[in-house]
Amino acid sequence: MIVADRKSLEEILGMVKDYNNILIVGCKGCVTVCNVGGEKEVEILASALKIARKKEERELSIETTVIERQCDNEYVDQLKEKVGNYEAVVSMACGVGPQFLSEAYREQKFYPALNTTFFGGAVTHGIWEERCAGCGTCIIHDFDGLCPVARCAKSLLHGPCGGSSKGKCEISKETICIWDSIVAKKIEQGRLNDLLVVRPAKDWRTARDGGPRRSIREELTR
Ligand code: SF4
Ligand code: SF4
Repeated sequence: MIVADRKSLEEILGMVKDYNNILIVGCKGCVTVCNVGGEKEVEILASALKIARKKEERELSIETTVIERQCDNEYVDQLKEKVGNYEAVVSMACGVGPQFLSEAYREQKFYPALNTTFFGGAVTHGIWEERCAGCGTCIIHDFDGLCPVARCAKSLLHGPCGGSSKGKCEISKETICIWDSIVAKKIEQGRLNDLLVVRPAKDWRTARDGGPRRSIREELTR
């Protein structure tokens, strides 16, 4: 899923400082699962903004709503009756959500309440970790399902750098060296020789380096 963190209250307050009547829109997709943009978080942000404004002796009228997915025009359309009733709209979706809203409602102003961080999952309650960088050409079959593109700080594809030490990456004591994990798993399975294969250079044109990407499924477009 897409993982995100909420921006600080100060930053969001700064974004809406000129408005007295706003709508906060949450999303029932990934940001609900990672506890940052669902119903509960929308209400918490609304309360926090109101309290902060009260301290400034200014009223702030806030309405809230949570739609199924902000990355799908079918659900974005459901806002058409209300989106014009506010001076501005704060989106609590990943970075895709406010852009879909902005494209659908050109006359309205949209502000992101979240910082979108990575594609990952929960490794334990309350802790999410990155697993995929969306490179567009998955190669993790070469590495027993572990991704050096997303999980090695240097995206090295042919083995560890000299900074790997005791299973940790040189960037921090908390970060595992994914190359240590890849090599350990190959040794466990008696397949270390797999890593001696010289693979052709990765095609990065399918990654972000090739510009904004599209995915077309012909059978669904008919
Ligand atoms: S190789 Fe690319 S698509 Fe596959 S997990 Fe890594 S970043 Fe994601
Ligand atoms: S120590 Fe390991 S994970 Fe860190 S940059 Fe080097 S090879 Fe990549």
